[in-house]
Amino acid sequence: LNQMLVEMDGFDTDTNIIMIAATNRPDILDPALLRPGRFDRRVVVPIPDIKGRKGILKVHAKNKPLADDVDLETIAKSTPGFCGADLSNLVNEAALMAARKEKKKIDRSDFEVAKDKVVMGVERKSMIISPQDKENTAYHEIGHVLVAKLIPETDPIHKVTIIPRGWSLGQTHYLPDEKYTKQRKFLLAEIAVLLGGRAAEEIINKDVSTGAGNDLERATDLARKMVCDWGMSDKLGPLTFGKKEEQIFLGREIAQHRDYSEETAERIDEEVRRIILENYERAKQLLVDNMGLLHRLARELLEREVLDNSEIEKIMREYNPLGNDVLKTAGGQDS
Ligand code: ZN
Repeated sequence: LNQMLVEMDGFDTDTNIIMIAATNRPDILDPALLRPGRFDRRVVVPIPDIKGRKGILKVHAKNKPLADDVDLETIAKSTPGFCGADLSNLVNEAALMAARKEKKKIDRSDFEVAKDKVVMGVERKSMIISPQDKENTAYHEIGHVLVAKLIPETDPIHKVTIIPRGWSLGQTHYLPDEKYTKQRKFLLAEIAVLLGGRAAEEIINKDVSTGAGNDLERATDLARKMVCDWGMSDKLGPLTFGKKEEQIFLGREIAQHRDYSEETAERIDEEVRRIILENYERAKQLLVDNMGLLHRLARELLEREVLDNSEIEKIMREYNPLGNDVLKTAGGQDS
C-alpha cells in the first residue's frame, strides 16, 4: 500500500484510474493513505451473514453436481461464523466425501459429514479410550447440554458427540444466533453453560478432571470482559478498566496499560470470581434438580455417541413423567 501511495502521487487529476486495495491490518495503515484523494472510500468486509453465506455457497457449488436434497439456504443457516474460506472448504470436503463413496452427486449427508469435519476436526475412530474416560466425557458434555437446555436465553444446541475429534474427547455444538450485541443475561447464561461440563463431573464423580480446562479459560475470559470491557458489573459500574493495544489481526492483546489502582484491581478480581462462582453454582443446581435427566441423557449419549438437538428434546419430553415441558422452564437470572 505504501508503494501504491508513491505511485499515486504521479497521477494527473484527469486520469481516470480507480485504485482498489485490501488489507486485514487496517490498524497499522499509514494515516496518509486514508486522506481524501488517496484511498478515500473504506469498505469494511465482515464475516458474511446468512445471505452472504448462501451467495458464497452458490459460487463454490456452481460447477458441482448437487443432489435434489441439498438446500444451500439450510446449509447457510447452519454455518454461522463461517468465512468465505470455510465455506469453500466445506463444499470441497462434501465433494470429496461424495467422490469417496463413488456417488454421482453430492447429497445432504455429504454436506453434514463435511460440516462436522470442518467445525470439529477429523474423527479419530481408532483412538482407544478407557470406559471411564468415555463415561466421564459423556457426563461432561451432557452437563453443557442440559444447562443450555434449561436456561431460556442460550444458543440452541446443534449436536453433542463423544467421538474424539482433533484434540478433544467430546464436543457440544451450538447454533448461535447472529447477534451483533449481547445482553448481560445472555453472557451469564453462556458462562453457566461453559461451566456445566465441570459441574456435571463434580456431581457424578465427586471429583474433577483436566477435561474442563478450555471451558474454564473461556468462562473466565468472558467474565473478565464483562467487568473490564463492557461495564457490566453493578459493583464497579459502567466503566472500562485497562487500555489495550490489540493486535487485531491476531486477535490478541499485545499490551495492556493499567489505568486503575491496586484496590480496583482487587475488586475486579473479586467481581470476576463472583460471576464465575455464582454461575457455577447455578449450573450445578440445575443439574442436581434434574439428576434423573442427566443420567438418562448421558446413558443415551454413551450408547449412541452422537445426539442431535431433536433427539435430545425427544428424550427430555419422554423422560418427563408428568407431561410438563421441562424445556425452557427454568427462569433466567440477573446478577
Ligand atoms: Zn466442556
